[in-house]
Amino acid sequence: MLTQQRRQNLASRSSAVRKQQGGIAFRPPVQFVKTAAGTVQRYISNDLGGAVEPLTYKKRADAEDMGLNGRGDNNNGWAKIVDENNKEEIIYGISAFNSAHTEESLLTKIKKIYGEEIYKNDPSDTSKKRVTEIYTERRPCGADGEKPEKSRQDRNEGSCDSYLKKNVHANVIVSFSVENSSKGFNLLKSNITAKYYDDIVKGTRLITASNMKTRNGSLYHQFGIRSLCYEKYKFYGRDYDSEYKYFEKQKEEVDNKYKKVASIINVDESFKKEINEKVEDPHMK
Ligand SMILES: [Zn+2]
Repeated sequence: MLTQQRRQNLASRSSAVRKQQGGIAFRPPVQFVKTAAGTVQRYISNDLGGAVEPLTYKKRADAEDMGLNGRGDNNNGWAKIVDENNKEEIIYGISAFNSAHTEESLLTKIKKIYGEEIYKNDPSDTSKKRVTEIYTERRPCGADGEKPEKSRQDRNEGSCDSYLKKNVHANVIVSFSVENSSKGFNLLKSNITAKYYDDIVKGTRLITASNMKTRNGSLYHQFGIRSLCYEKYKFYGRDYDSEYKYFEKQKEEVDNKYKKVASIINVDESFKKEINEKVEDPHMK
């Protein structure tokens, strides 16, 4: 059992580390693990309570802007590395189905680039390059007695919770947005989508009609964005469907003009091919 004094010591140490690192604001539930030597804190757990984290949000939203799928089920995360000159670097990681969870992909990447001492160093030791914080959208699997899926149990300490406890320095902050479950993850993704629509309606993000159209050939976000716009401002805002149709019509007209010109001047075939490649819109493939 921890004495009251020991608990207070640990709590004040955590608070000092957070101030020093300037990380995300939080109230950490301190995590303990039993070892032969006694009870030792192995990382500082930080529950963001469903909040959307800015860096992983940007990754997902940027993918959507480009007409790619930013709403995938892979868990996203990052590690913050700070060097001896206080220069920060963010390394991103993503889970790969049945072969690596985000935490594993992050530590593997860091070990490969800098060596494992980077995450074993004390985050408060400003004379060394060190990992100060790790973020994962879902809480590390295996925390609070939760059982990871079979494939995860067979590798790297059996769970990400044990894996982090074994490998990273006790003062590294491990932040997460939601519990490790489909319910938690769906909640986070709907919070991300809500923020994405809000950013577009406010005008702080721009999505083009042609990029939206390339997602499964449909105007995937049209309804959500316009509904929110109406809710906030009592008008529907941009009509991506009409914009896209206009864009297609313009393109067809240009194509027809080009074909006419090509038939009149009778350019050779290789030149025609070269020009065609140049004018092809990558979004129209
Ligand atoms: Zn895991």
